Amino acid sequence: MDIFADAQQRLDEALKHVKLSDDAIARLRSPKANLQVSIPLRRDDGSLEIFQGYRVRYDDTRGPTKGGVRYHPGVTLGEVQSLAFWMTFKCAVLDLPYGGGKGGITVNPKELSRLELERLSRGYIDAIADFIGPDRDILAPDVYTNAMVMSWMMDQYSTIQRKFSPGVVTGKPLAVGGSQGRDTATAMGAFFTIQTLLPKYDRLPENTRVAVQGFGNAGATLAELLHKAGYKVVAVSDSKGGIYAPQGLDIPSVRAHKNATRAMEAVYCEGSVCSLRSRETITNAELLELEVDLLVPAALENQITEENAANIKAPLIFEVANGPVTAAADAILQRQGTTVFPDILVNAGGVTVSYFEWVQNRNGLYWTAEEVQDRLKARMVKETEAVWKLMQEKDIAARTAAYVHGLQRLGETIEAKGTRDYYQQG
Ligand code: NAD
Repeated sequence: MDIFADAQQRLDEALKHVKLSDDAIARLRSPKANLQVSIPLRRDDGSLEIFQGYRVRYDDTRGPTKGGVRYHPGVTLGEVQSLAFWMTFKCAVLDLPYGGGKGGITVNPKELSRLELERLSRGYIDAIADFIGPDRDILAPDVYTNAMVMSWMMDQYSTIQRKFSPGVVTGKPLAVGGSQGRDTATAMGAFFTIQTLLPKYDRLPENTRVAVQGFGNAGATLAELLHKAGYKVVAVSDSKGGIYAPQGLDIPSVRAHKNATRAMEAVYCEGSVCSLRSRETITNAELLELEVDLLVPAALENQITEENAANIKAPLIFEVANGPVTAAADAILQRQGTTVFPDILVNAGGVTVSYFEWVQNRNGLYWTAEEVQDRLKARMVKETEAVWKLMQEKDIAARTAAYVHGLQRLGETIEAKGTRDYYQQG
């Protein structure tokens, strides 16, 4: 099944548990606007290469659309639509005044020089400038895009508009209008969700073994936060493979090695800090099937599918990546009693601090790291508790509860603009 159809299955499931007008349902079934562009890139050797780029604005009922930009060879229109669909619900779950959007370029950024990457990022903005804007569609980082890429994009948009326009992009460096705490926000938000929910399962950090798939911005930061809070992070991985130590890994040293060498492989080598602890190398597939208490997919979508769902032993899964569990896998996991806390709640810390950044850009008044963290924590805890309450009240899965929570807000806004019933009664 294609990824967008898979994403829509979640909507169907949630619609069984929430009363929504037919108008609202019809509106949420398809994206508001899809843009596909060809981006010409002058390579360093003088040749010209054309890359495909996308930007999707899924729904803007609750405010301007908001979502990251992904650089990956696997980017397709269907993937970007799914990510924009998830953003729509994520923003509603966190009660942010945004709709959902997403963008991407089909490219392997590791094959480009830094200058080529800058030219491609600026070329992407040239191609989509009329489609985006601080009150229309706001960009952010995603897989293989970072603060520097956001800075180039904001700068290019400002050049086109002939005015400094920091609010068009979030996740920028502090020096160009970024927010304190944006770089760690996704992981921090996931951490607050985990801390709020684990006591409900009578779990203490020191008795909780965690495996984290994906050791990038989100995964590595979360692994470190969990490690510091006393959780036993026993396995981590990146695109090249993973490491496993049943007694727990020393995450700060794993991170230092990864940063120094850009590869998880390097931490396998003898003489490294990590070799002070015995550990074994594992594949990404093996990591997912480890006997742990908490599994955190934090890499890419479609990692837990109907092929491997029955082999998952962790009773709790927290989705830090977007869409790591397919709808078919969800059904298998539910049957075997595995609880999956969904992406649209767990990884929403990123877009929440992006929202804070946008607010600060509009006010020109900047908050301290403590202010950002306190506001993030308050919002994550409040909405996590609301999702938990719906799970208990309606006896539904965590994912369905999160969709119901978001749908109630989206439905209310769509209906406030008039429904079939309203016009027929007139
Ligand atoms: P990133 O580029 O910083 O890191 C991605 C990590 O995944 C890297 O360690 C990479 O090596 C690893 N990886 C890539 N392919 C893999 C594979 N096949 N198996 C295992 N690992 C693999 O990206 P990120 O920002 O940390 O994003 C990770 C996930 O979190 C994505 O699904 C993204 O959509 C989601 N997310 C990120 C943010 C954010 O603010 N960064 C916010 C919400 C959701």
